[in-house]
Amino acid sequence: MEIIPVVPRGYCKGVVRAIEIAKKCAVDYPDQKITVLGMIVHNQHVVDALKQLNIHTVEDKKKNRIQLLDEIDEGVVIFTAHGISEQAKQKALKKGLICVDASCTDVIETQRLVKEKINEGYHVLYIGKKNHPEAEAVLAISEHVHLITSINDLNLNLNAKLFVTNQTTMSILEIEEIIDQIAKKWPDAQIMREICNATSIRQKAVLDLKEKEIDLLIVVGDPHSNNTTKLKSLASESNIPHVIMIESVFDLKEEQIRNHQRIAVTSGASTPTVLTNQVIDTLKHYASTLEFIVSDKNTKII
Ligand code: SF4
Repeated sequence: MEIIPVVPRGYCKGVVRAIEIAKKCAVDYPDQKITVLGMIVHNQHVVDALKQLNIHTVEDKKKNRIQLLDEIDEGVVIFTAHGISEQAKQKALKKGLICVDASCTDVIETQRLVKEKINEGYHVLYIGKKNHPEAEAVLAISEHVHLITSINDLNLNLNAKLFVTNQTTMSILEIEEIIDQIAKKWPDAQIMREICNATSIRQKAVLDLKEKEIDLLIVVGDPHSNNTTKLKSLASESNIPHVIMIESVFDLKEEQIRNHQRIAVTSGASTPTVLTNQVIDTLKHYASTLEFIVSDKNTKII
């Protein structure tokens, strides 16, 4: 049995920065209640680790950021790596909260681009995921931003200049399919692909596995993470025979790996490195001894 750790994988610069910003808040505001508005990054292990530092999280998938703010009445509010709308920022300031913005710079750049195009009179077709906080912030820019989740959403009757862009963590294959259809329907539409570099190189590394005759890919990450779930869907589409997604080594079962010869491991941009390493160590031990012993030597998440 051969174990192939995929490179690159795991934490991206935006996730590292967001976690550092949250940790710095605990130092800068020792006497204030600190609350993150939604999951700081989409990984429950990171959220739990922040709790150990007295950094709380309010999260409810049925509520948007503006509604979630009703649950924070004092202290510091941290906006997550996924970005925040101007309306939510203003509401937080009106409530007298100290606002700390951990938005990823790549997300901010896409927001800037969309604002610029709206000001130039364009309607924007934004390829993204419904109810995702990154999409929520971009849609809040203007009613002229239209969310496109699939080709089924292209049934729009728009007679305006069109600009097309996307959420930073979409699948590189999926958006091309949608963009093809947009270009057929609106040949003059301006198109700017905004999948971030971290997402794109992790996805390309998974697509490159085709040449390595992998029979199983294990994706480590949280099911709420868009970039993690896209790694899984991309791998399935690229004909890797077996693809599984686990949150940590504790979800791994011997029968899932027993009959495979070449096992690759990757992880989403919000997955702590230690969790992926525990999976790799467990697999390597199994490959050399055929003993299935879960390795959880190092448990420091952040
Ligand atoms: S996945 Fe991309 S956009 Fe999201 S935090 Fe990481 S670098 Fe930023």
